[in-house]
Amino acid sequence: MLQRPHQFINGQWVASANASRHAIINPYTEAPLGWAALGDATDVDAAVAAARAAWPAWASMPRLQRAQWLGKLAGALKARIDTIGALESAEMGSPISFSLLAQAQLPVMVMGSYAEMVAGPEEVERIGNSRVVREPVGVVAAITAWNYPLLLLFGKVAPAMAAGCTVVAKPSEIAPLTSYLLADAMAEIGFPAGVFNLVNGTGIEVGEALVRHPDVDMVSYTGSTVTGRRIMANAAPTVKKLALELGGKSASVLLADAPLEQAVRGAVQGAFINGGQTCIALSRLIVPQELHGKALDIAADEAARFKLGDPMDKATTMGPMAFAGHRDRVRKFIREALTGDSQLVCGGAEQPKDLPQGYFVSPTIFGNVDPQSTLAQQEVFGPVLAVIPSRDENHAVEIANGTIYGLNGAVWSADLAHAVAIGRRLRCGKVDINGGGFNMNAPAGGFKQSGIGRERGRYGLEEYLEVKALQFNNEELATRAA
Ligand code: NAD
Repeated sequence: MLQRPHQFINGQWVASANASRHAIINPYTEAPLGWAALGDATDVDAAVAAARAAWPAWASMPRLQRAQWLGKLAGALKARIDTIGALESAEMGSPISFSLLAQAQLPVMVMGSYAEMVAGPEEVERIGNSRVVREPVGVVAAITAWNYPLLLLFGKVAPAMAAGCTVVAKPSEIAPLTSYLLADAMAEIGFPAGVFNLVNGTGIEVGEALVRHPDVDMVSYTGSTVTGRRIMANAAPTVKKLALELGGKSASVLLADAPLEQAVRGAVQGAFINGGQTCIALSRLIVPQELHGKALDIAADEAARFKLGDPMDKATTMGPMAFAGHRDRVRKFIREALTGDSQLVCGGAEQPKDLPQGYFVSPTIFGNVDPQSTLAQQEVFGPVLAVIPSRDENHAVEIANGTIYGLNGAVWSADLAHAVAIGRRLRCGKVDINGGGFNMNAPAGGFKQSGIGRERGRYGLEEYLEVKALQFNNEELATRAA
């Protein structure tokens, strides 16, 4: 049993002010994996005070020195990659081959990338008689979801610290265990105390205390749109800077000239990544109506190729849902869709017959889905794909843009220029053209109710910087004053 009775505050492991614990259940074995202490507002006060006290020295530290600390941290985390990957498979069910890559290597690479980014000189711009400089926002509350625990956390903590901010992190209480490994690595290398603090706990106790705290300058949040709205409201009285990475209902748009087989298979893979528990999951597939039948056949064949099973088995390509409540929620969406007019192509709401144990949901595809239905409008966050027929490409774009979300998209066409033109019409933060691959330095974020701001690469760094204009009496002085 893994036990995490402490919070990490001011470089020390300290007993939580609160005595409650959260049991973490392995979603494959359904047995307890461990527990972590749930903090409260008293822990938040201590962590924010530590972050505030550490801020002046960290913010004024030469960039190269900050870069060296981040590089050293990336090195200490690199030595833990196998542990992180295996723990994430046990904690939230990601298949080990995927987990090692997306839950372990990638976040560590993100940490390293920000060390490199701030190793260079500061960017200074001159506009007429002004010099424009950038300064760290201050104390950042980083609140994250359970589906990619470290990737989401490092996507905030790395650029925030690189920018010169100090951080209080609140991982999801559902899957907090790998976040403690970050604090372990910091303690091991003697990272400057108070720059990073970790308070595990619920959203209502710890999350809200952070969002409302007068000494927190910025909230960087990844999670559902419902919680994002609440965070905006709670941050309003203190007018905090916000970066919000929220939900999605992203669409693959397949044009009439697309390579059908490749496009449909790619779309199914894009829908079911990490069991569909992915904010950018392409959970809708929009196909010309004349290709709809053929597309369903190919999609069902691709879904059948997923191997469900023990996340620790290298051959497994889809693990269980991360926790029982989430499995139930996904199944509820499926049951509701079964009562409507759409056509169940494969999967369903039952426990897979060959897997009596584990929170599994079979890869499920519905055809002929009404674009206004619950299944096509709401984020399911599981392995459920809605295939929607379109009359023509204008109709396809209208359907793709017809939800409150705008996180991700994909276009498939034999004509690259045409695909790009359609991609430009999609109201979302990223569009994969003909299966275009992941780029960890490209900006990620949402249009509409999928969020505010961008993560990753230099756009991610900018979120944690305030812009300041230094005014001079003339242009020459503005140029000269370094
Ligand atoms: P969630 O909203 O339940 O919780 C996210 C985090 O917010 C958790 O740490 C939770 O404890 C905390 N929280 C809950 N209520 C809070 C409150 N009132 N104040 C402050 N914090 C609070 O989301 P989840 O179920 O953990 O994650 C799934 C969601 O996250 C999906 O909607 C998914 O699309 C989204 N997500 C988005 C991205 C992205 O980059 N856009 C990435 C991953 C996940």
